[in-house]
Amino acid sequence: MSVRPKKSLGQHFLKDDNIARKIVEAIAGFKQKTVVEIGPGTGVLTSKLIEKENINFYAIEIDSESFEFLNIKYPTLGKNLIFRDFLKFELKETFTQPLTIIGNFPYNISSQIFFKILENRDIVMDVVCMIQKEVADRIKSSHGNKTYGILSVFLQVFYDIEYLFTVGPKVFDPPPKVNSAVIHLRRNERKKLDCNEELFFRIVKLGFNQRRKTLRNSLKSILLNLPTDNEIFGKRPEQLSVEDFINLTNLIDSSKDQ
Ligand code: SAH
Repeated sequence: MSVRPKKSLGQHFLKDDNIARKIVEAIAGFKQKTVVEIGPGTGVLTSKLIEKENINFYAIEIDSESFEFLNIKYPTLGKNLIFRDFLKFELKETFTQPLTIIGNFPYNISSQIFFKILENRDIVMDVVCMIQKEVADRIKSSHGNKTYGILSVFLQVFYDIEYLFTVGPKVFDPPPKVNSAVIHLRRNERKKLDCNEELFFRIVKLGFNQRRKTLRNSLKSILLNLPTDNEIFGKRPEQLSVEDFINLTNLIDSSKDQ
């Protein structure tokens, strides 16, 4: 039995065992014992993860064909192989302990996976994942760059980002049209933002939704008639560091109360 790759599920199966080994080795030494793989597919990472001692391993797969294939190939996985859509899976209903997420992510939904990870940031301590290189570049991008955006700010607030290595298309079946990259996100020390979190997320989103406009213009629906003489309102979102966004949130929040 084999699994027919489905484009709609972002299936590009990794064929290179060395790269698979390098990805799995990247989680060595992490403190948390629970390891959750997103999208095991045909099991190239899974086969190495189940050999690891001292971890509690789970895999979440949406594709019934892959699920059946893995059930037969790795019967010891049992209930730890979960047949579900990761985006609809309530991590905290199953896991209460800190955990690691690993996977060659389906590229078509990688941003949504990161938003889901952010929602669960109090238990997701480390993420080692392969994604489209362009998305990896955006995530690690800092202010002042064209590629700096919503995902960079949101992830960098709560995670330290490490770019591990680049992977070309030829090692996949079928090969994707783009280059790939493996990155490591590690939860930082920040438990809470030093500002109104909900307002912070709104400001970052609204700002980058119209990234060419100054913040004075793009944030109109929040600012209403608040004073905008501070020079920060004349800037564009990509000029603001993560700290600047926190300061901006506090500035807006405090002038609202006056
Ligand atoms: N880990 C495998 C497969 C990577 S391809 C390898 O390295 O070869 C991406 C995998 O994610 C596929 O198996 C696909 O079926 C799965 N997938 C896609 N969308 C998913 C979702 N919403 N939830 C869980 N798995 C998903």
